[in-house]
Amino acid sequence: MLQQILKELAATNTTLVAVSKTKPIEAIQAMYDQGQRIFGENRVQELVEKEAVLPKDIEWHQIGHLQTNKVKYIAPFVSLIHAVDSLKLLKEINKQAAKNDRVIDCLLQFHIAEESSKFGFDEAEVTAMLKSETFKEFENIRIVGVMGMATFTDNEAQVKQEFRQLKSHFDTLKDTFFSTDIHFKEISMGMSGDYQLAVSEGSTMVRIGSLLFGSR
Ligand SMILES: *Cc1c(COP(=O)(O)O)cnc(C)c1O
Repeated sequence: MLQQILKELAATNTTLVAVSKTKPIEAIQAMYDQGQRIFGENRVQELVEKEAVLPKDIEWHQIGHLQTNKVKYIAPFVSLIHAVDSLKLLKEINKQAAKNDRVIDCLLQFHIAEESSKFGFDEAEVTAMLKSETFKEFENIRIVGVMGMATFTDNEAQVKQEFRQLKSHFDTLKDTFFSTDIHFKEISMGMSGDYQLAVSEGSTMVRIGSLLFGSR
């Protein structure tokens, strides 16, 4: 399955994040042995435990909602934080990154789904944050793009529309704040059930779990 998905993604230069949450070390090691190096987890404790025992050249992505008080545990090694959804969280990531003498890459999470339960900014909130003096003082974070989760539904037209919305937020931010920044280039969207649609709508990074590792 890994090779088949990678082949599909290669055609569009899309990065695969193998979402290994709840899966045992052995399953991740097996995927690693097939060549996969980027893995995503959504619980900090689990991420920390896995990072400690698995190969050091794995790039670990924190993909789910991140609580401010947990940032310190992943700051020494995390390579990308997908779900930044507040200035408060960004401030803490900057602080912990500085402590570790690092710059941590982050994605801004947009609320694109219909459900009110999903986390994320809207465009006005992001604009206000990027213009704020607090944001401009951050030296240990780098915003490399956007992330979003579509509504969990069979309605393909709706999911497509939500992916388009995220792509449009990306384009607006790129034009307004990051036009000369080559690092601002990622759109993290698409999971097992909707990654092909996401790729056709401009995703650069898909987060696939159950399709690779089996259902949870
Ligand atoms: C679990 C999870 C995924 C992967 O979901 P699958 O449907 O198993 O592919 C992607 N993104 C986030 C944020 C997740 O929590």
